[in-house]
Amino acid sequence: MSALEIGEGIKSREFSCKEAAESYLAAAKIDRAAAAANSGQAVAAKEGQAAAANGGQAADGSSLAVNAYVTIMEEEALAQAEAVQKRIDSGEVLHPLAGVPVAVKDNICTKGTKTTAASRMLNNFIPPYDATVIQRLHSAGAVIIGKTNLDEYAMGGSTETSYYGVTRNPWNLETVPGGSSGGSAAAVAAGFAPYALGSDTGGSIRQPCSFCNLTGIKPTYGSVSRYGLMAYASSLDQIGTMGRNIRDCAEALSVISGYDEKDSTSVMKEAFDFSESFGKNIKELRIGVPKNYFDIGISEDVKASVLEAAKTFESLGASVEEFEIPTIEYAVPAYYIVACAEASSNLSRYDGIKYGYRSGDAKDLLEIFYRSRSEGFGKEVKRRIMLGSFVLSSGYFDAYYKKALQVRGLIKKSFDDAFEKYDVILSPVSPTTAYPIGGQIEDPLAMYLADIYTVSINLSGLPAVALPCGFGKDGMPVGMQLIGKAFSEKTLVKAADEYQNHTDYHKQMPGAAVIGSADGKGGQK
Ligand code: GLN
Repeated sequence: MSALEIGEGIKSREFSCKEAAESYLAAAKIDRAAAAANSGQAVAAKEGQAAAANGGQAADGSSLAVNAYVTIMEEEALAQAEAVQKRIDSGEVLHPLAGVPVAVKDNICTKGTKTTAASRMLNNFIPPYDATVIQRLHSAGAVIIGKTNLDEYAMGGSTETSYYGVTRNPWNLETVPGGSSGGSAAAVAAGFAPYALGSDTGGSIRQPCSFCNLTGIKPTYGSVSRYGLMAYASSLDQIGTMGRNIRDCAEALSVISGYDEKDSTSVMKEAFDFSESFGKNIKELRIGVPKNYFDIGISEDVKASVLEAAKTFESLGASVEEFEIPTIEYAVPAYYIVACAEASSNLSRYDGIKYGYRSGDAKDLLEIFYRSRSEGFGKEVKRRIMLGSFVLSSGYFDAYYKKALQVRGLIKKSFDDAFEKYDVILSPVSPTTAYPIGGQIEDPLAMYLADIYTVSINLSGLPAVALPCGFGKDGMPVGMQLIGKAFSEKTLVKAADEYQNHTDYHKQMPGAAVIGSADGKGGQK
């Protein structure tokens, strides 16, 4: 069921908030137990050791778990479900998502519940406060059922760098779910949560949605509070929503968006209101398709599905025209310089003193810094801290960091120019469908290059919606993205809704039971 259908069921008393929570908790717990049994995580967790790097892989290869959650919040969820049920029973009119379970990426702070960023550094960190988005979910009556796995500190695109083991794609358990919000995507795709929150610094909501056949919104920079989101690259990070269809994502975004005095980059006065955005025709819509996006190492089946979607939009009455975005080749280098520079600065707070992991072996202060950071951070995080420190160091600052900021300005301008002519830009999300686990992790450059279609959007602060538009030759989902002007989320939602009202890609689910399936392949053929 979609999140809104569950909300309806609760309102009409088909089932209670508690029953809804229990059913998702049960599914999530089976997966968690399988992952723990397979990888020795239960023991590892007790001893405070690293979970097996191949989390979810059975020793005898017999059954694979998705490993979507780092923490399942059973007690808290059931208490919240009961509290919301009381509010509903007393006749209070609540948000359509009241009582509906939701999963939250584990880099968003939840008071009293461990929040790890999937790092050893924060393995025992219990935040003393809620992120603003969490407070807003609670006020709307949402029931948070758990914290989902991610690439360590949201740095990655495959959810393979987590301290808690890899997450697997429910469509084919041998492939990655995408990342860094791979746990949130896998949880929704596998039926362990009806919708989820993720964060997107360079594609981390859109790319996992694309790999797992989901819909997701990366909102305009400044529209959702970052207070309580563990910072990766502050000028790019934005929290957004992931679900089975655009209506679920839009309703959830209306809950979490809007001004927050605790975030100095928060700019939107009111929360989004999408009540007028559903079931509308798109006859006035002008869509631009950047044709140079389709001849840079994109796989043929992804290209075909996205271009087919352009035709569908045309048949629905939108005007579709080809054009070029000249800055695409600079997007990845500019992004990785800016993102790593900000990451190196943001992550300097983890010093082993104030909070987080502290090495037991240090003999003096400098050794505490040195050993805690060496032992607490994983390889990819260290790579980015080093890259970032390098581009910010004197002598290289002008050549790299300053140059990247100038290029960032040019990239933004190329989108501004396009929006003089078009309301929406239609583009692929990722050059390929989900690839095998282990396929790219040893080749960081290949992994970075796969972010080519998503990172410009964050560099420009723009909103984008990712949604399913077909299946590749391998049976795996293909996604497209609709990019809009700053704060044009309503237009994007309207376009995505009209598309989903006339197609059924988003309704497809992974095949056979995921857990314990004989060949590990749940994907559609
Ligand atoms: N894959 C990109 C990176 O590794 C994006 C990550 C994100 O959006 N959090 O930086």
